[in-house]
Amino acid sequence: MKVTIVNCGSSSIKYAVFDMSTRELLGSGLLEKIGSDDSRLRHRRLNPNGSFDEILMHEKVSNHAEGFEFIFKVAAKMRILEDPHELFGIGHRVVHGGEVNHGPVLIDLSVMSKIGDLIPLAPLHNPANLKGVEIALNLLPEVPQVAVFDTSFHATMPPHAFHYALPYSLYKEHHVRRYGFHGNSHSYVAKRAAAMLGKPLESLNAVTLHLGNGASVAAIQGGKSVDTSMGMTPLEGLVMGTRSGDLDPAVHFFLMREAGMSADEVETMLNSQSGLKGICGSNDMREIGSLAAKGDQKAQLAMDIFCYRLKKYIGAYFAVLGRVDAIVFTGGIGENSALIRSATCQGLSGLGIVMDENSNSGASGKEAEIQEGQNVVKILVIPTNEELEIADHTVETIKWFKTGSPPFK
Ligand code: ADP
Repeated sequence: MKVTIVNCGSSSIKYAVFDMSTRELLGSGLLEKIGSDDSRLRHRRLNPNGSFDEILMHEKVSNHAEGFEFIFKVAAKMRILEDPHELFGIGHRVVHGGEVNHGPVLIDLSVMSKIGDLIPLAPLHNPANLKGVEIALNLLPEVPQVAVFDTSFHATMPPHAFHYALPYSLYKEHHVRRYGFHGNSHSYVAKRAAAMLGKPLESLNAVTLHLGNGASVAAIQGGKSVDTSMGMTPLEGLVMGTRSGDLDPAVHFFLMREAGMSADEVETMLNSQSGLKGICGSNDMREIGSLAAKGDQKAQLAMDIFCYRLKKYIGAYFAVLGRVDAIVFTGGIGENSALIRSATCQGLSGLGIVMDENSNSGASGKEAEIQEGQNVVKILVIPTNEELEIADHTVETIKWFKTGSPPFK
């Protein structure tokens, strides 16, 4: 039972093929620079011994439709997917589901039109996601396709968490509210955390920290998201690779008035030239760590701001949840940087968060418990797997459609 996961960007297509009878990843890849002379495909294939081969191919790919055909050709040649027409389903990662999509949905014309309606809320992502859906449906009309939204997991946020204190009419007329993102990652690690702690998901209270290039925190109560740091867009919240995160809204007007910047320039600056990069010139936490170790003060400041903002959110979400079973580190930084995990948890013993530095320094890229002794609050490192989460939702949604029995609690 093979399922392909597709994540379409403006000039890229990320994909993964799973055998869902075993939930095993057979292969995955990233086609980049679509539309340029320098398009390239990085493809990974599972070997019989469990390791992965990686190959890099260069081929001129003019548009996304050619991109899909190229990917299917490579997947057939690599024998991970001989014939895409035999797929059980395709799962599309769609960034913004708005207020209407509280879970994954089987794609039809009305779903496509709703994804299109949400473009003003996610102008950088939903158009490319929609393009991927259109091309895949056109190529494989008989294969069921499912949209899995990055916002859905946070649909359980209560009104006091998702409303901004703005005139209510802006919410009613323009849907200005907090939605949250990285939902598939927060949902995946919450399930894994419950399994690691031997608890039913329904009784898990956790603070999950997804720390990649984009970064967000979620407060999970009884297995459900009750708050998260990203807002109407992914710009709110934590300090990220190139995004500022939380900011006094008056800064925007000051920059427009005093620095003569246009609204578009401010938006680009906040999304692409701020965060870690804005402070020290790099958005790569590995590079920032080694610069800081050599005494680079801006790199050290960038790390300090990153960890301080994170610590404030952890404290806030402890107040939201009352009782916390675990804090969970995931994403490229959360899974791999013992330094950031340690700096973030420093001084939090009052909340019952005490790290075992030995376990912390040994934890990289694999599931681990890194709190000291039998402390009440577990500190977990859990590699995320958004693709598998999307694949699970894709299978459940298609089965639901075929059998008529809803799989979701
Ligand atoms: P994306 O959000 O693009 O998926 P990732 O989840 O892959 O990003 O995270 C990328 C971030 O993880 C980068 O800042 C990278 O430097 C950081 N990272 C990866 N490995 C390590 C490591 N060993 N130590 C510190 N940071 C790391």
